[in-house]
Order: sequence, then C-alpha cells, then structure tokens
Amino acid sequence: MATREERPLFSFGIIADVQYGDLDDAMNFTQTKWRHYRNALYLLREAVQHWKEENRIQFVLQLGDIIDGFNTRRKNSENALRDVLQEFDGVPFAVHHIWGNHEFYNFSRNYLMNSPLFTAQENATDVEEVVKKEADAAYYDFSPYKGYRFVVLDNYDVSMCGIGRDKDSPQYKEAEKILRQVNKNEELNSPEGLVGVDRRFVMFNGGMGEEQLQWLRETLEVARQQGEKVVVSGHVPVHPNSCYVMCLLWNYQDVLKILQDFSDIVLAYFSGHDHGGGYHYDSGNEIHHVTLPGVIEVPPGSNAFGTVDVFSDRLVMHGVGQLESRVMK
Ligand SMILES: [Zn+2]
Repeated sequence: MATREERPLFSFGIIADVQYGDLDDAMNFTQTKWRHYRNALYLLREAVQHWKEENRIQFVLQLGDIIDGFNTRRKNSENALRDVLQEFDGVPFAVHHIWGNHEFYNFSRNYLMNSPLFTAQENATDVEEVVKKEADAAYYDFSPYKGYRFVVLDNYDVSMCGIGRDKDSPQYKEAEKILRQVNKNEELNSPEGLVGVDRRFVMFNGGMGEEQLQWLRETLEVARQQGEKVVVSGHVPVHPNSCYVMCLLWNYQDVLKILQDFSDIVLAYFSGHDHGGGYHYDSGNEIHHVTLPGVIEVPPGSNAFGTVDVFSDRLVMHGVGQLESRVMK
C-alpha cells in the first residue's frame, strides 16, 4: 500500500477582501452584516504573523479588494493603501496582489500599474510577455515549483467600476453595453428585476475580454505540453454553485468552459468577492472552486485566511476562522 507523503511539495497563503479603511464600522449594502473597516488591518496583521510563524509558505495570493472604496469619501486612498501594504514589509514570502472592484473605486488602472499592487513584473514567468500585452491589464502566470503553474486573472478587464477604466475606453463602452442590455435599472449596482444568474449583471462585477481569454487558453496549452498542474485565481467566482449568483463574473461561462477544457491539468479556482464565501466541487471535471470569506465581514474574535499545502495528489487547505479546512484531491 502506498504511503502518503508527509511533507508538502510547497505551500501558499490565501486571503481575500480585507477592505481596510480608517472608517467607522458600518452595515453592508444589504444591511445584513457589519463591516469592520479598522479591525480588518489587525486581521491581516494576524494572518501575516501566522504565516511567518508557520514558516513554510512560499507566497500569498491576496485575492483582491485590499482597501475599501469608501476611502475615497475621505480622500484617503493612498494612505489606506500604504498602511495595509506595510503589513507585508519584509515578509519572507512573495505576495501576489489580485485586483478587485474596490481597487478601481480608489485608483485608475494607470495608477495601479505603477503601484505595489501590480505584482506581475516581479513575479511573472515571462516578464516580456507581461509588458508587451495589453498595456494596462494585470493577468499573468508563474511557476512556484517545478510541475506547477499559477494563473492570476484580471476579472475587471471589461468594467465600469469606479475610475478603473477611462469612460472613453473600448472596455468601458463594452461593459456599459453588456450591462444595459440586461440591467434596466437606473442604478446599475442594483439587480432589481433580474432573475437567477442574470443577477450577476451589476456594476460591481466585471468581465474578461477576448484577448485575455485567448491568453488563458494559450497559457493552459503550454502548461499541458509541459506536463504541469495548474491553479487559477481571480477576484470574482466563476462557478454558480461556489457563490451567491449576484457575485459571478459576467462571462463566467467562457472561463468555466476553458477550465473544463483543461480539466486534465486544472486543479482549482480560488476567488473572493462574495464575503459569505463558498465552495463547489465540479466533480465531472474534478475542479475545486473555492470562494474565500471576506476578512471585512468577519465577526469580532474570528478571522478568515488559510494556508494551502500542495501534495502530488491533493491540496490540503488549513483554514483559520471562517475559512473551512478541507482536503481537495
Ligand atoms: Zn469585490
């Protein structure tokens, strides 16, 4: 009988929706949960401390929305970003920052590309490719361990969120067309009148353009040729059973189809955005969809982050607080 490996090949940390702000606690939009803006910073600090003590992760996937959009009300975006990034100063592991809707409430893409939140340059396998592709998109891939590839998606490529895209850009115009076709509300963040998965057509979600989808296919094709296993990540969930449908990517079917076409090499998709979190095992394709609970809505005394140990036949997720632990074969 085969014995299981004792030690992981490598490990990584995961955390989502910190949404820090020097702001008083407030209820979420649906008035169902409290958001603890200041405490979020201490929860991130606790996570970083935990990873330092564990002393085994190689990198962190910060799944987006690291500061809250309400920072703009106090014109405090840059200070909030500085404060939250300070928590990662001098850490003995790499940090991959993914962009969510709140990044764009605070900053333009141009600003983000020149900020520490743009981690493609220092981390991507093919830096030249990152530079030559769409000048202001943040998707890239990297290989932390031989035989493994991680893909970081830019889920707000086609978006109307905040000041991310210029209103004259083709991506903004395309986003507006997509939204208005389905969502007839004056307030495009409202899903009123929309039913089922159509409720995803709200402004706080986004979509991925054809160029990025093509890049994803090509990246997975190369990974397949090289015999690699792949973990994909993005801010927004892509499987309707892994989240509240109002939080799905607009063209989630396109991404899901690509992941399923490469089900022989894709192990899992990690995201945030839906603060309640979620999990679905796409058993037909053997792909795990993990939606992390958001740090911002963690009740006092708890937290929401984890460490994933990668073994040759499974991913073992050690959750802290609201993030459930699980073994994913
Ligand atoms: Zn979000």
